[in-house]
Amino acid sequence: MTEPSSDDGRALRRETERVVNEVAQGLRALDAGVSWFSGLAPTCQQMVLREVAGYAMQAHITAADGRAGVERSGVKPTANPSVMICMDPPRYGFASLPSAEHVKAFRVLVSVFAVADTRRRERYCKGACGHAWHNLPAASEQP
Ligand SMILES: [Zn+2]
Repeated sequence: MTEPSSDDGRALRRETERVVNEVAQGLRALDAGVSWFSGLAPTCQQMVLREVAGYAMQAHITAADGRAGVERSGVKPTANPSVMICMDPPRYGFASLPSAEHVKAFRVLVSVFAVADTRRRERYCKGACGHAWHNLPAASEQP
């Protein structure tokens, strides 16, 4: 297996930021985000999982966010990624899970990030903040 080149890495990080934040802000359905993720090569999926785990860490997710996110993710609460994110403190080693669990890990991570980020937008940002990812260009619902 080959590692993506650094240019590919940058493009993938930008794409990840857009897709994940569109899902978190209700501009894109979770299933649409999942089909984007499913189409990536396994090494790219691992890179995305590490990236989104970083967003979740920065959003300071709580165990309650974990439970609420798992509930909306469609993944069973007993699945590995669900158990990991609900720990206190959460475990973030999703990229090390077997590749068969990557899609579940993506669903769980994005859903939990959405819960924590929505709280941050509603309580602290209130539609007027300097977070680039909270000020996405409208109407980017593209396949
Ligand atoms: Zn903001």
